[in-house]
Order: sequence, then structure tokens, then C-alpha cells
Amino acid sequence: MRLPSQADLRDEAAGLLRELIRTDTQNPPGGETAAASLLARYLERNGVACELVARDPDRANLIARLPGAGTGPSLALVAHTDVVPIDDEEEWLHPPFAGHLDDSGFIWGRGAADMKNELATRAVALAALARAGFRPNGDLTLIAEADEEDGSAEVGMRWLVRARPDVAADYVLNEGSAERLELADGRVAVPITVGEKAATAAVVTALGASGPSTLPRAETSAVSRLARLILRLAEHDPEPRAIPATAATLDALAGGDEPVAGRLRRAVALHPMLAELLEPLFRTTIAPTRLHGSSALNVVPARASVDCDCRTIPGTTLEELRAELTVLLGDDDPYELSFPEPQVGGSISPITTPLFEACRRWIADHDPGALLLPVVCNGFTDSHYLREAFGSVAYGIWPIRHTPTEVLHAGVHARDERVHVDDLGYAARFHIDMCLAVGGLRSSPPGR
Ligand SMILES: [Zn+2]
Repeated sequence: MRLPSQADLRDEAAGLLRELIRTDTQNPPGGETAAASLLARYLERNGVACELVARDPDRANLIARLPGAGTGPSLALVAHTDVVPIDDEEEWLHPPFAGHLDDSGFIWGRGAADMKNELATRAVALAALARAGFRPNGDLTLIAEADEEDGSAEVGMRWLVRARPDVAADYVLNEGSAERLELADGRVAVPITVGEKAATAAVVTALGASGPSTLPRAETSAVSRLARLILRLAEHDPEPRAIPATAATLDALAGGDEPVAGRLRRAVALHPMLAELLEPLFRTTIAPTRLHGSSALNVVPARASVDCDCRTIPGTTLEELRAELTVLLGDDDPYELSFPEPQVGGSISPITTPLFEACRRWIADHDPGALLLPVVCNGFTDSHYLREAFGSVAYGIWPIRHTPTEVLHAGVHARDERVHVDDLGYAARFHIDMCLAVGGLRSSPPGR
């Protein structure tokens, strides 16, 4: 099979990324059909069958498919086409929708790091395989979905998995991790996201006596009580707890068999970014955000409440979260606790799969000695909908060697977003090799 060199892959992906950046898909309003059409034209030129699937004509998703022989597992390469909006355009060093390529090889613009970079390399990998005449055992697809950044319009992945069950895939590669961490002990770690924490909204309502504001009574005021309850929520500092996926993270980084807290402390000391990346994975985080009190300045309310954004370790039930909050809130101030909406997220994929092993081997070969580090994501990606609907084994990884991790991260949802072109060649090569690895398999992952 004749596949392009890494330099040719880089140039092809760079061209496509620059065009994608010039296609403004700020969400809201999105307008992702322009990006989906651009990709469809590119992929069809290269022999890949494409279909635009839209609930809203301005917000189409792209499904591109290299059909398999029907004898092996399927793989979906996934990337969202929308980007977060910009309100500080004049402060960017290079204009955010120009696709500027600078002298040191960085491509600048909204989406260069989240995630038109990943989208371009996944599309180029599929195009290169189609040109080379690759015939996988199972279907190889690219799903370029709308409305990931906002998600409220229900036109992207959440809608697509219901409207088009044929997007089901045994394996998925999507956004999640894009880091290369040089550890204090000389090792290099490349994270791969294998699951996501669950998000639950909790409402804590303090109860008290209502009355005129001219005669405030701090002891029975719902507002004073709420203030005390919020302080207790803010002081939440639970003992860290591991599940198999995060125990594997600690094993890789810190070895040993001492309690989780000690191993976590040693792991976090290995790199400045690891505190942020790892600490939330071993505990429930509780963020009090919105407040509700009296509707009038001169009335002390009988009820005052706070909405809390709670993020739990995958597998945590609502009852376990309720118990954790109840202990925390204590019993000296009367309150009500409710969960107005169902939990979102919290899915996780096993790491004992041929795709994980292929990723591990590829990273070890191309970044000699580097360690593939399974992590659980603090936030949310569309991988969750694919795991939930189809039981897909979904990982988030976009390997880098050339863009400093700090530079890539600093651009996400922020000013001066950029990526080095050499990473486009590197990542396109990675995706081609993963397609060849999964495309050559004959059995589906366990559990499907
Ligand atoms: Zn993203």
C-alpha cells in the first residue's frame, strides 16, 4: 500500500486546517454546514463516500465512510466542527479566522487547538487510506459533528446517535488528551482519556423564617443559614479514592502499594500540570455557582438556595452523592437537597483492548520510552454519547511532539490559539496506523 510520507501528510493537513479555520463556525450560532461541506468536498475528491446529516440545515454533521468487508470491528474517527466564540478579536497577535502560518511553523486561529487540528488530521488519515485503496475488515468512518461546544441545540452528537444508529462503532478516537508531559524523573507521559466524570446539578435550599427586612434575625434567616451551608460545601476535602482506570494511572506514575493519597501526592509532584489533571479524578468536586434568594430587597425569604455543579467519579450513584453531601452539610441548619436533572456523563471504556495496546505501542515506538497514561476527563466530550448509545470503546488522544503542551493548552477557548504544523503530520500518521491496526482486526471488543 502506498501511503504518503509524514511531510506530505503534514502539508495536506496544514492546507485543510487553514481552510477550516477560515470557515467561521463560532457556536453560537455554529453554521457548521460550511465546514461539513468543505470536508465532504475534500473527502469525496479522495474517494471517500460522504453524507451530510442535519436536523437544522445550517448545522449539518458529516458522516464519511470507508466501507469494511463486514468481517471485523468498526472504528470511528470523531471531531466536532464548531468552535467557541471570540469576543477579543483585536487582542489576538494574528487574526483568528485567517489561518495564518507563521515563520516558525505555527498555524494560528480559532480551532487550531480545539479541535480543527484534530479534525484535519483525522480527515487526512481517512483520505490517504482511501487513495491507497485500503479495505478494512470493519467500517472506518469520520464523524464530524456540530454543536459540541454548546450542545444545547440538540443538533450534534446527542441527536445523531438517536437519528442515525448506523454511526455505531466498536472503537472511537476523539478529542480528550493532547499532551506530552516531561516528568521530573526523566520519563515522558502521554495521556489518553478513557472516560469522563459525571456532572450532576444539586440544589441546596436553606429553610428559615420569612419576615420584614427591618427586623432581621440572623439565627432563623434562610440566607444566613445558606451562607453557612455554602462554606461547608466549599471546604469539601474528601479522602481520594481510585477506581480501576485511575488506579492504573497511579500505578504507571507512582507504582507502590501505599494508600491512594500518598501515591497521588508523589504522582502530582512529577509535573506541574498533573495536579490539575489528576487530583479531581480521585474525588467528587462540588462547585457552588448560582444563588437564589428573596425576590424583594425588603423581604427576608423563607427559602434561599444555591445550585452546585457536582462532578463525580464514574460509577458514583446519585444516592452516594446524596450521602456525601448530607455528611458535608451537617444537621444544625435545616435545608432541602434536590437533584432537578439526571446525571450526565460518567462513562468509561476498558483499557484491556487491542486499540489501547496499539496506541501504547505506537507511542512507545514514535516517542521512545514514552508512557501511555490512562486518564479520566474532568469535563465532557461527545465520546460519552457514543459509549452510552452503543457501548463503544472510546478514547481521547491526539499525540503531539512539536507544539509545547503549555502552548497548545493556553489556546483552548482562549486568545492566540495555535498548533505546530509538524504535529499535524505526526498525528495524521498516528491515525493512519490506528486505522490499519483496527481495520486488520477480526473480533469486536469485549462487551459489544
Ligand atoms: Zn473540543
